Amino acid sequence: MGRPPTAHPGDSSKKRENEAILCAVCGTEITRRQQATTVNGRHEHAFFNPAGIAFEIRCFRAAPGTTPRSAPSAEFTWFPGYRWQIVLCAVCHTHLGWLFSNDDSFYGLIATRLT
Ligand SMILES: [Zn+2]
Repeated sequence: MGRPPTAHPGDSSKKRENEAILCAVCGTEITRRQQATTVNGRHEHAFFNPAGIAFEIRCFRAAPGTTPRSAPSAEFTWFPGYRWQIVLCAVCHTHLGWLFSNDDSFYGLIATRLT
């Protein structure tokens, strides 16, 4: 009696795969691990903006929890050929990163603003 429930390895890895990534400020679901993607061969990138502030960003194919804040711009783009738009948390409006678009598009989300 009282045999502890056994974990199914398949289930737990599937759960990790689908794990939600949340806004660090308000806890809204921003994206999921399965949306993680690589750009130029890397998931994480580090950049400085023109003001000299360093950002570590992680790339995702989709981020349904965000809302775009600005019109697309090619100025100072970190990814040549891509235009960027600022994206905010759709709920608390924290700046979470950028949407980069070209023929395809991806989100670069600021690592420290996600949890
Ligand atoms: Zn938020």
